[in-house]
Amino acid sequence: MISVKGLYKQFDDLQVLKDINIDIEQGKVVVVIGPSGSGKTTLLRCLNVLETPTSGAVAIGDQQLDFSQKVDRKAIANFRRLTGMVFQNYNLFPHMTALQNVMEGPITVKKEAKSVVEERAKELLKKVGLHDKMDYYPFQLSGGQQQRVGIARALAMEPNVMLFDEPTSALDPELVGEVLQVMKDLAKEGMTMVVVTHEMKFANEVADEVIFMDNGVIMERNVPDVMFQSPKEERTKQFLRLIQ
Ligand code: ADP
Repeated sequence: MISVKGLYKQFDDLQVLKDINIDIEQGKVVVVIGPSGSGKTTLLRCLNVLETPTSGAVAIGDQQLDFSQKVDRKAIANFRRLTGMVFQNYNLFPHMTALQNVMEGPITVKKEAKSVVEERAKELLKKVGLHDKMDYYPFQLSGGQQQRVGIARALAMEPNVMLFDEPTSALDPELVGEVLQVMKDLAKEGMTMVVVTHEMKFANEVADEVIFMDNGVIMERNVPDVMFQSPKEERTKQFLRLIQ
């Protein structure tokens, strides 16, 4: 479903991603861990071309972007629609209700009919447990509720892949569980997901594979049991010791 080949990303003189290669099968959940500044967010943003890779290729399904050549805007716009992104700080439109936030993308970007979108948006808000909060504005919702709107909004675009960038790290501890539960349900339904998170329990329970990034490279990748019980690399051991 997702294939990343020889991906590099440079900001000015800083090489942030160095020769990243990843293959993810449909329906799999991959959790990306690693120290701050190791390139996790940049990798996610390259997957939906919020950042343009310096070189390398990214494919989702049968759509591929090869950044060793010039890539046109239309191809990028089409590619971006394949992914739904959930941000650390929710990024909801503050002047729109929960329902309007969820409806906005399909109507303005995909030009879908309002009646169709409204029905889907309501279903999605129900799915994330917010059927009674559809007409609330973001400021009237808790962080956990706002993030669940964020997930419903990403799903409303009917993406092939969901990308989560530290979706619970801005939340008060007691609100983390409700967001992780929605993500677990999605995983169970077979959604292909790439999740940057510090929630190791979630990684252990839900991930098919855990990727440890350090200093712009993939240091180690493995099934969660092996990654957490018997990591191979010294850097991975150090990191896991620090966060536990
Ligand atoms: P992580 O998500 O693992 O904390 P990031 O991908 O956010 O790491 O950042 C990796 C490195 O890239 C950091 O050194 C960060 O300062 C740098 N970086 C990220 N985005 C930009 C940008 N837009 N311009 C310049 N440097 C950036």
